[in-house]
Parts: sequence; structure tokens; C-alpha cells
Amino acid sequence: MPTPTLADRLRQPEYTGENRCTPCTVVNVVIAAALSLLLGVAWPPLALVSFAVFAGAIYFRGYLVPGTPTLTKTYLPDRVLRWFDKEPTPTRVGSAPAAPATENDADAESTSDQVEAGQLDEGGESAEELDVEASLLEAGALDWDESGDELRLDPAFESAWNDEIERTDDATIRRRLADLTDLDADDISLESRSRNRWFVAVVDGTTIGTWESRAALVADVAADAALGDRFDDWDRLTGEQRSALARGLRIYLDRCPACGGDVRFGSETAESCCRSWEVFVVRCDDCEERLLEVDADALEPEAA
Ligand SMILES: [Zn+2]
Repeated sequence: MPTPTLADRLRQPEYTGENRCTPCTVVNVVIAAALSLLLGVAWPPLALVSFAVFAGAIYFRGYLVPGTPTLTKTYLPDRVLRWFDKEPTPTRVGSAPAAPATENDADAESTSDQVEAGQLDEGGESAEELDVEASLLEAGALDWDESGDELRLDPAFESAWNDEIERTDDATIRRRLADLTDLDADDISLESRSRNRWFVAVVDGTTIGTWESRAALVADVAADAALGDRFDDWDRLTGEQRSALARGLRIYLDRCPACGGDVRFGSETAESCCRSWEVFVVRCDDCEERLLEVDADALEPEAA
């Protein structure tokens, strides 16, 4: 075991690296600058020295001022916090790192004329162009119930999806994510983030996709497998469109992909370091895994 350096001992991993809170860091840098300017009035060189010390503290410890999250929550308006907050958007598969040019060109075949090059890297747009519900209906994954006012899973699709869920393990997950992103399955690692709030797929330190839990990822990977046969133009869909379709199905889950338990729907308050907001959540009644989370603002027109 290597001896911890001074930097290791000073470091507070719960507030730095992946866990660093941007609003809190910004607030601390502003406070550090203001304090340094004040000290500089007494003796100008002190401004530089003190700012260097303060910046070091923020870098290694996350904050300079104790109790920063409360401070940030109190004094920064929610609009500003939301802008800075690094809460990930769930299931955005495709923000993949640029594939190194030396890799064997596996995507040459799948890049048909209809798919614009680089679409995978462009962020949410392509997923928005796709009408998820209409596509799932057309593919026969969803249909209308007897009354004709509510959508439900097509029974044949539901059993195909459940079969896929049963046989989905970590190796299957990595293989299908590799297929969605043109990355190498062996390079993909799966891990929990933000105190278990999110489950991510990572390649070389870059997050390529974020899910509410491993169970949510299993549901999506299995849905992707079950949907493949039902779409004529499956090969032309981008990784983002395919993950949007899978995510669109998760609201119809009636059993937990992790433990088979019943699921419940409800409102919850989500919290990051210095912000809290209302979300709509689908959660397993038995193992408490979060299967779907949607920002309440995205569901209702804004009241104000
Ligand atoms: Zn469960």
C-alpha cells in the first residue's frame, strides 16, 4: 500500500473530483477572491499569497468556508443553481469520447447515408426528433387497452422483454452498450455515482451513459434487445434514439428488473449538494431501487 501523500490526507473525496459541487465551488472562489482583496488592502502581496492558499483549500477540500452547501442554498437563486448543477441527465447514451483514429473502424458499416456522421456526440437533439410513443406503438411494443384510453405493454412484447431481463448480466450490458456506442465492450466499466444516486457506464474516465440504478440499465438493455426485431429501420436509429425508446418503456414496468418486486409511482424530493427539487419516481417496493426519475418541471407546465 502506497504511503498517502500530504495532498491525499488533505483531500476530502466526498466534496472533490466526481463529487465536486459546482455552485459551492463558485461561491467559495468568489469568497476567496473577496477576502484576498481585503487582505491586499493591508499589504498588496498578501492578496496573491492568500488567494493561492484559499484556492488550494478549495481544490483539495471542496470548500473553504464550512457549511458552504447551506450558504449556497440560502444565497444563490434556484435558477442559478440549476444552471450550474451537474446532476446528470439520465440515460444519455452517446456522449461518448471521440473514438481514437487507430481503433479498427467498426462503425464504417453501420454509418449509412441517412445517419449524419457524429450524431451520437451531439447531445439530446436526435432523441427529441423521434416520437417515442408513436414509434413504440407502431413497432407493437405498446398497444391501447380495452377501453382505448390507456397505453400498455403489448403482451407478446412484455414477455420478450421479461425474457431478456432474465438473461441480462454485466457482460450482456457491456456488449450492448458497446454496440450502441461503437466502443469496445472491454473498455466499458459500470459503477455507482453521487452516493449511489446514479449508475453510470464509463470509458477512460468519461461517462457515456447515466441511469437511475443498475436495475434501470438492465431494463433498458433488455428493451433494446427486444425492440431490435420489431423495427424495420433499427440499424438507422442512433444510439440516443434507441436509448430514448428503451427509457420510454420503463414507465410501463410492473415488476422490478433487479428482484421481481412490485413497483410504485410517486413524487419525491431529490437532493444534490445544495439544491432540492421535486421529481416523479418509479421505485421498487421491495429493494427500493429507483427505476425511473423525471423532473416534475418536465411534466407540468410551470406554475409561475
Ligand atoms: Zn427490486
